[in-house]
Amino acid sequence: MHPLWTTAFQETWDDCRRRYVDFKPVGERLKELHCQARQWDQSESLLQEDHLKTPVIARQFPDYFKRVILPVFSQNEATALALDEFAEAMDQWHLEDPGVETRIPQWLQQLQQQAMHLCKPIQPDFVTLIVSLSLAHLYRSIPAAKPETPAGATQSGVCPVCGLPPHFAALVETEGYRQMECWLCGEHWPFTRLECPYCGEHHPEKLGYFTVEKMEVCRIHFCHSCQAYLKVFDTRSLALKDPCLWVMHLATLICDDLAAAEGYHPGSEMEWHQWMVME
Ligand SMILES: [Zn+2]
Ligand SMILES: [Zn+2]
Repeated sequence: MHPLWTTAFQETWDDCRRRYVDFKPVGERLKELHCQARQWDQSESLLQEDHLKTPVIARQFPDYFKRVILPVFSQNEATALALDEFAEAMDQWHLEDPGVETRIPQWLQQLQQQAMHLCKPIQPDFVTLIVSLSLAHLYRSIPAAKPETPAGATQSGVCPVCGLPPHFAALVETEGYRQMECWLCGEHWPFTRLECPYCGEHHPEKLGYFTVEKMEVCRIHFCHSCQAYLKVFDTRSLALKDPCLWVMHLATLICDDLAAAEGYHPGSEMEWHQWMVME
């Protein structure tokens, strides 16, 4: 398992902060989250976790949410109130582990619907952000939470460990081969640049990419056959040795917005966008 925030978290953060003016409000929250999450890693609740019991995630999630997410993202009164209600409502939900077989994107959708229904208006994008960050951290911190490798996960368009389709990748080494990274468990695996990881399309005229001005490091690789996109970071031009792709992803959410505006959907089925509630 790769940690959620690689050792290059700070360097990647500094780099994104320098490049992208809009990263400031999100960046500040991320930094706090990084500190808070590290404390939680060393907390009693994890040490006492009985690794033989399942479901681990469902049991740890509300605690993690209250102790790590809530303090960081309650930066204004309205958000604090909405998150409090969200956390309180969570106690009433019968959360089950969002294993690969229960499909995380669908699980997230259910959570969003419950949140919209039960709480003060809380943006779905914001729910995606806070819940996906929590899940990524929990899966990587608790060994027992590691998903079983599902049968049929041999095709490399999905993560070989947990079977989820990727949301981002990096172009690495001088040859620029494409290295996928699982947003959930952090696994890396190589995948050819000339094929759509989601539908297997490999005709060059069906595949392409675009970039956004001043964000050329982030390429939106799209496929005309399935209309899906994958974010690919050309990290070769960066001075960072092991850039933290999660940070780069959150610093370039505007690319996700533009991909949606162009009619593409995320091949990961995870809708991360600029979230209004952060304003
Ligand atoms: Zn994975
Ligand atoms: Zn495709």
